[in-house]
Amino acid sequence: MAGWYDRQQTRIGDALRAACIVVLALVVCLSLYTPDDASAQTVTPPTVSDARIGVNDGKTRFVLEFDKPVPYKIFTLAGPDRVVIDLPSVEWNGPKSGQAEGRGLVQGYRHGLFKPGITRVVIDLAGPAAVSRHFALDAGGGAGPRIVVDLAGAARTEQSTEPVESAGWAAYADELSRSSPVPAALAPVPNSTRRTIVIDPGHGGVDPGATGSSGIFEKKVVLEFGKILRDALQATGRYDVVMTRDRDIFVPLRDRYAVAHQVNAGLFVSLHADSHKSAGLRGLSVYTLSDKASDKEAEALAKKENLSDVLAGTDLTGYEADVTSILISLAQQSVKQSSAQFAELLVAEMKQSVRLLRNPHRFAGFAVLKSPNVPSVLIELGYLSNSKDEAGLRSDKQRKAMAGAMVRAIDQYFDRKEQLERS
Ligand SMILES: [Zn+2]
Repeated sequence: MAGWYDRQQTRIGDALRAACIVVLALVVCLSLYTPDDASAQTVTPPTVSDARIGVNDGKTRFVLEFDKPVPYKIFTLAGPDRVVIDLPSVEWNGPKSGQAEGRGLVQGYRHGLFKPGITRVVIDLAGPAAVSRHFALDAGGGAGPRIVVDLAGAARTEQSTEPVESAGWAAYADELSRSSPVPAALAPVPNSTRRTIVIDPGHGGVDPGATGSSGIFEKKVVLEFGKILRDALQATGRYDVVMTRDRDIFVPLRDRYAVAHQVNAGLFVSLHADSHKSAGLRGLSVYTLSDKASDKEAEALAKKENLSDVLAGTDLTGYEADVTSILISLAQQSVKQSSAQFAELLVAEMKQSVRLLRNPHRFAGFAVLKSPNVPSVLIELGYLSNSKDEAGLRSDKQRKAMAGAMVRAIDQYFDRKEQLERS
């Protein structure tokens, strides 16, 4: 029995020692992160701890809860009906976007980085509604500081409302504009004999794009692939590469092709991945600009991809009402031909390494391909709704094989161009 007693004593002793180490570690940690540590405060972004929707008496209440008070800006957009809440950039610990189900007047909501320093929450409304009340609440009753937005049904209006700012927003916006350096204008690399390729990973930030069968977002898949393609192109020593985004942030469609123009790019490659209600559909496809779509599916796809700005809560007033009705200028005609030639080379190379969709080169009115002087293609890398395509797009081996095929097609495109220029 003594042996048993000793063993128990040893275990209790071990447990006590372990507990002491934990307590000691806590004391050390707490002394490192005291609340008056100014530097820790400025680098820790606010956290959204919860987002919830309540329905009562025809009113719908949307609540965001934080770990510290934050200023906000709120406005509504029509066509489609949306409420937009801009916040300082926050960590999101609330419900995941994919699980953000709607109730009452809220059909669903999305969040993400809209631009540096600004997180945007877009609430898609189930119908025309107005913000009847919005206010900030201090911490209390076991809850953290909150932003409360009450929605009530309203007559349909085609008008967007002017943004309303909470106390503190103007000061935050001011601080942000002073602290963020003005980005240097993009320019071609001087004296470079290398060609510049613009890689455009689709979607980003508040616009997640398609959702995969495992719940992964298109914006993540195409960014990861874009970086692999960038590295493969740079490794040849023949190309300079500019990416329209290299992190999870929203970029308006018109800014994407404007980049290609600014850097005098030789090619613009927009990367996407589709999803389809029929899970069996799979394969890569390549799209070039046309005012007349090659087929119904391509037309529907262009409509869907062109929605990016709308999904991100951008006010499109003043821009073309229907970006799919694209008129192609004379200058674009020769660029259109080069784009089509590159698309054919891509298809020929890609089919060695990846399954292609039937009729893999198609045409439609994609807004992002509208550059008047840079040959541009949009590649749908595959269907995230298909488990095999999705697995391929998450496999390093497969992604490297696909990027390698793209580099070979790009090499051939410029080889031919240089041959023509010499002859
Ligand atoms: Zn897309």
